[in-house]
Amino acid sequence: MTIRKFNFGAGPATMPLEVLKEIKEELLDWNGLGLSVLEISHRTKEFMEIAKDAEQDFRDLLSIPESYGVLFLHGGATMQCPMIPMNFAPLDGTADYVNTGYWALRAIKEAQRYITVNIAASSEVDKFLYFPKQDSWQISKSASYLHITPNETIGGICLKEISEENVPIIADYSSGILSEEIDITKYGMIYGGAQKNIGPAGLGFAIVKKDMLNQAQEKTPTMFNYTKMLEGESMYNTPPTFAWYMAGKVFKWLKLKGGLKEIGKINNIKAKKLYGFIDSSVFYSNNIEEKSRSIMNIPFLLINEDLNDKFLKESVDAGLLALKGHRSVGGMRASIYNAMPLEGVNKLIDFMESFEKRNHNLNVKR
Ligand code: PMP
Repeated sequence: MTIRKFNFGAGPATMPLEVLKEIKEELLDWNGLGLSVLEISHRTKEFMEIAKDAEQDFRDLLSIPESYGVLFLHGGATMQCPMIPMNFAPLDGTADYVNTGYWALRAIKEAQRYITVNIAASSEVDKFLYFPKQDSWQISKSASYLHITPNETIGGICLKEISEENVPIIADYSSGILSEEIDITKYGMIYGGAQKNIGPAGLGFAIVKKDMLNQAQEKTPTMFNYTKMLEGESMYNTPPTFAWYMAGKVFKWLKLKGGLKEIGKINNIKAKKLYGFIDSSVFYSNNIEEKSRSIMNIPFLLINEDLNDKFLKESVDAGLLALKGHRSVGGMRASIYNAMPLEGVNKLIDFMESFEKRNHNLNVKR
């Protein structure tokens, strides 16, 4: 029997063990059908039920009002970066973007191919060590929407609270979705990829206010058109059925855990413990402004970066995987999504503590 390890990767990320076991159990014979879910048509009443249930559970978890449509799409979060300007701004239109790091920039670059992008705020000059305060955002008069990335997966910064603006707010929630309660009604749309807190990579989700629809640019491909995709209940073509089925299982697992209020409490406890340890140490550091610290992705540096490779090798030996930080920021990163138990965080802290003790004589800046 293989022993499961703790996976701190940013995505595809650790998934709930209970869900993986259930899927394993059902793989050859789903619900007495004598077939796998992988083998049934998306048009069957069996799959339609899976799809409907998943949507309902997603709606329940996030308290999504009827005035919003829910979509399960192909193409992760990235495919939606061009979809957004095509659907919500006119040709030669303008939109505002808050630049908070790697993922915000990717969305900005893609949007610039279609529309004029106004940078409403940016923390780039300060190396993205904080999320710009909302009262500093410069919203342009002609903006069709405002785009934000409330949880920057690589930089580890997040926006804790948001107020409505005069333009619809569109948020890339890839790495923050379902981590704690949010008020959907503050947004025109939230979207993202599934591979952190929802399910398999490749699946994307969108929760879109219906009054934002019906304004896509004429040449928008059907598969990129939120209105058409919603009319077709995300089944304009064959949807990613297995990913959708798994997402449904993760939603049920979350409901059993007590929903977002409960998981939010646990996530805050996990993050507080890890930040607390890092802050109390002279061996590790996290320089992000306290108010902007993500509870999902926690980057940290070793003071002596020459020890990075040793740290990574020994962490793998200790059963703690994928702690290497993104190449653009270096150092380490612990992604502690919903499916990472407190036990995993405790084990990481124990390892970090013991690594520090064993190497304290080498704790010098290189
Ligand atoms: N936005 C954010 C905030 C992300 O973390 C990621 C993936 N790490 C993406 C966008 C891109 O997602 P995908 O690979 O599903 O397109």
